[in-house]
Amino acid sequence: MAKLGRELKAKGINIVDLSLGEPDFRTPDHICEAAIAAINAGYTKYTPVAGIPELQEAISIKLKRDNNLDYAPNEIVVSTGAKQSLANAIHCLVDKGDEVLIPTPYWVTYADLARLAGGEVKYLPCGIDTDFKLTPEQLEAAISPNSRLFIFSSPCNPTGSVYTRDELAALAEVFKRHPQVTIISDEIYEYINFGSGHESIAQFDGMKDRVVVINGMSKGFAMTGWRIGYMAAPRVLAQACDKLQAQFTSGTNAIAQRASVAALLSDLGPTQKMVAAYRERRDHVINALRQMPGVKASMPGGAFYAFPDISSFFGKSYGEHVINNDMDMSMYLLHEGHVSSVCGSAFGNGDCIRFSTATSMENLHEAMTRVAMALAKLS
Ligand code: PMP
Repeated sequence: MAKLGRELKAKGINIVDLSLGEPDFRTPDHICEAAIAAINAGYTKYTPVAGIPELQEAISIKLKRDNNLDYAPNEIVVSTGAKQSLANAIHCLVDKGDEVLIPTPYWVTYADLARLAGGEVKYLPCGIDTDFKLTPEQLEAAISPNSRLFIFSSPCNPTGSVYTRDELAALAEVFKRHPQVTIISDEIYEYINFGSGHESIAQFDGMKDRVVVINGMSKGFAMTGWRIGYMAAPRVLAQACDKLQAQFTSGTNAIAQRASVAALLSDLGPTQKMVAAYRERRDHVINALRQMPGVKASMPGGAFYAFPDISSFFGKSYGEHVINNDMDMSMYLLHEGHVSSVCGSAFGNGDCIRFSTATSMENLHEAMTRVAMALAKLS
């Protein structure tokens, strides 16, 4: 969609791009300054595979400070983005034929990585009626003796749904009955939380030994291009990921690691400012969507997406445009409304489309006006 949008832009059409999952803010100054200081101090050499000790230590402090989780620095592996941490963990955990459970909607990379590792993906559909969240009953019914891994994100990309402490505790109770399942908890949107507070499933009794916490700098610190992610996991798994990473990429960028130490150990004021902006944007977009006849929208508790259900338009048309599915809707909004989105089937839910709210209020106002007008034409 981003590519199509760029092509239309090149033809002189004014497209509002809501397709990208990337903060629109600059990396905060004090983090950039730490990177410049690192270059000047000569931190330009290879780094230890699992990360520089100062960053492992800073992550250990952060996990205690923010999540009340006790991880030793040697249970932490720094990598080239949360995506690599996911790839490391999935490759170390999944063997050919293992069942990998993924609640939908999900971030597309989970399923592709699981299949790449030889796993069989089993999707657990979660609809807007449960705020796109998995119930303990659903989880219990889905787990089989062959289930090896469960992967989810909270806050979730694409829905923005956030699991509460009680909801996670209830899922943890189910996992306790099925010790063969390891859990990957992707917490990359941790800081972009609009109220209920972030909770990790690793916090419950007996869970830490079987949970892999994935996190990174990309979203909360607007550092997507710096490519720093990390995992915290039982030592044996951290060691396996270290081994794998040693052959794939080695230790990640020295300068970005120094900058990440500064980001994690300094006050989170700049992050909180960004979160306030994301909240204002969410409020505007969700209120606007809810006023559009035929659109259903859940209220995201975090992240920077809206994931409205637009299935009531299936079968409707305007001129040559016929809307039979989410892809038709994304295309229609691009060509008729000049707003780009991503179709929900990319995330395992074909009733919805995803709008990113990581752009200015001005763009979001304009986009929602255009979407409302385009939808009103369909009959
Ligand atoms: N997990 C989720 C849910 C994401 O949305 C993303 C980025 N789109 C990532 C992981 C990857 O983050 P990184 O940039 O640190 O690789």
